[in-house]
Amino acid sequence: MSGWLETIKMSFRTESTPNLSGIGMTSQRTRERLLGRLMDQGITSMEVLDVIRSTPRHIFLDEALSHRAYEDVALPIGFNQTISQPYIVARMTEIAFLSGPLTNVLEIGTGCGYQTSILARLAKRVTTVERIKPLLDKARKNLRLLGLRNIDFRHGDGSLGFKRSGPFDAIITTAAPQQIPHELLFQLNDGGRLIIPVGGDVQQLQLITRRGEDFQCDKLEDVKFVPLLVGQVQN
Ligand code: SAH
Repeated sequence: MSGWLETIKMSFRTESTPNLSGIGMTSQRTRERLLGRLMDQGITSMEVLDVIRSTPRHIFLDEALSHRAYEDVALPIGFNQTISQPYIVARMTEIAFLSGPLTNVLEIGTGCGYQTSILARLAKRVTTVERIKPLLDKARKNLRLLGLRNIDFRHGDGSLGFKRSGPFDAIITTAAPQQIPHELLFQLNDGGRLIIPVGGDVQQLQLITRRGEDFQCDKLEDVKFVPLLVGQVQN
């Protein structure tokens, strides 16, 4: 392992983490392991790592699962949905912010609000769309608990994007369509980025960058997300 990586890891170990208290020393070690794991997997953005480090992932989970909150895995949140794996949250966020600070971000698939909380601490304004109303309500509560106020929660079908609040510097989709919904492309700013898993049983994370009326597509890595479904659910 290279020296600088070890140094970064050490600094994460020794700094105090006041806003992460709450579930004891055992999980403190697990959190440190998680940061190390993200770095080992190639996450290099200090901003992203720092926000992940200081975000209490356990508050997004039911108590019965909270002891697993700092494992690098997706976990169930009810309604057949999952909280995303920290690695993929870090990776998508890092890609979104590669070209610099972002003002206006759209997230599709709020779920419990974990990815939303990471985005909201890095971007000026986040709009997040979820099709399952009770999940959206829960996310709203979680994010209020964290004191995040720059988020606009919307109940609806995110495959349509959210044109009224666009255009966006970045759109992050946390559920996978079979094909990229065209509405999303035209809600990007010039230079804006869409980060989206695409496919069914086999999915690929794609980065679409808008250049005027052209869209450059980069295929990044294989991923596994829940499907992007049409329509919305009230209860
Ligand atoms: N962002 C979440 C991941 C949630 S899982 C996290 O940080 O953990 C993906 C979410 O996408 C689910 O809650 C699912 O209900 C939602 N979803 C699926 N299709 C959707 C659609 N068309 N519009 C909005 N949300 C959708």
